[in-house]
Amino acid sequence: MGATKVVEEKNQQMEESLNLFTSTQVVIKEALMKLGYNEDMYELLKEPLRMLTVRIPVRMDDGSVKIFTGYRSQHNDAVGPTKGGVRFHPEVNEDEVKALSMWMSLKCGIVDLPYGGGKGGIICDPRTMSMGELERLSRGYVRAISQIVGPTKDIPAPDVYTNSQIMAWMMDEYSRLREYDSPGFITGKPLVLGGSQGREKATAQGVTICIEEAAKKRGISIAGARVVIQGFGNAGSFLAKFLYDAGAKVIGISDAYGALYDPNGLDIDYLLDRRDSFGTVTTLFENKISNEELLELDCDILVPAAISNQITAKNAANIKASIVVEAANGPTTIEGTKILTDRGILLVPDVLASSGGVTVSYFEWVQNNQGYYWSEEEVNEKLHKVLVQAFNNVYETAQQRRVNMRLAAYMVGARKMSEASRFRGWV
Ligand code: GLU
Repeated sequence: MGATKVVEEKNQQMEESLNLFTSTQVVIKEALMKLGYNEDMYELLKEPLRMLTVRIPVRMDDGSVKIFTGYRSQHNDAVGPTKGGVRFHPEVNEDEVKALSMWMSLKCGIVDLPYGGGKGGIICDPRTMSMGELERLSRGYVRAISQIVGPTKDIPAPDVYTNSQIMAWMMDEYSRLREYDSPGFITGKPLVLGGSQGREKATAQGVTICIEEAAKKRGISIAGARVVIQGFGNAGSFLAKFLYDAGAKVIGISDAYGALYDPNGLDIDYLLDRRDSFGTVTTLFENKISNEELLELDCDILVPAAISNQITAKNAANIKASIVVEAANGPTTIEGTKILTDRGILLVPDVLASSGGVTVSYFEWVQNNQGYYWSEEEVNEKLHKVLVQAFNNVYETAQQRRVNMRLAAYMVGARKMSEASRFRGWV
């Protein structure tokens, strides 16, 4: 590669808004202006109201002590308590947690839940930690943030590399601190500790409903549709299964180590059996393609369900799908969004497509509060109703206001918290 090309690529990278926090601010501002709010509302919503940074000492198995850094961000609690997951990942950072908490506010607004947005994260690599170390870290995190969280304040949940076992330790630690059982402190718990039927699969269910609605708009039938899914974690793997069972041809999937492609459709049941608890499966195969190649495969529906900044100014022109549904948070940049929309591709944005998880978390919290538990059918029926309505609300806003689906989703998502903030007299 020539020196000029390297410099050009670098410039392009710098110009492109790869920072999730600042690009979220740009779209929030645009949405508020379209809704007719003034600068003051933007000043209120452009940053979280509260951001706590904590340092958590953990005794490691070898006897040493390691200090982990964690965050909890509460974006806006005008509508109600803040809500959102906790991620354990080596690349967690303050800006990312802030942006993710803003997205949670938008998601809760889109599916019309009585919550504001929150998010937490710990810089760590759970893939290299023992169960004992993870338990001590999870409990230490709860002790460190206990002053600002609680069933009517801020309710955590699972996110990247956290699961129902981690939620159980966190719930137990919180209940011990408060000296009463507090299932409503956290969602995504195991069923025996007050978890909800359907919560584990809820994010993928929500994505599936959005895919069904988007496919209807484009006259595509799910049976026989060629689907590519980037990522095989909680969202990606269950989604692959739902679509496979519905007769779609899942021709490509990937994990952090590479991608698998079969134009005749992959055997998803087999891949699910071989997948480890972190969603890794491609390491078992030799014939792999790269994640970049995967995104550009000829298909009908593309679902980025892994990490952020995957569809950018660099590759958006080469995407061949006619529908892109974002199951991950932030997989498409602002520039990528523009290119896809200009090319007539129907883009279902993250804040809408991935809102099934928090919707069933809300159902879990309601069940905990009333001490009465629903069947899986009941949960799925309610989820379906909420998501179909949210999708069509965003779709119609996009049509009526002649804006792309992302901006429409931000407009729908920002409306409720803006109104609530105004009624409270904050702006
Ligand atoms: N972490 C999930 C999300 O990003 C779920 C949050 C929740 O259930 O509160 O939407």
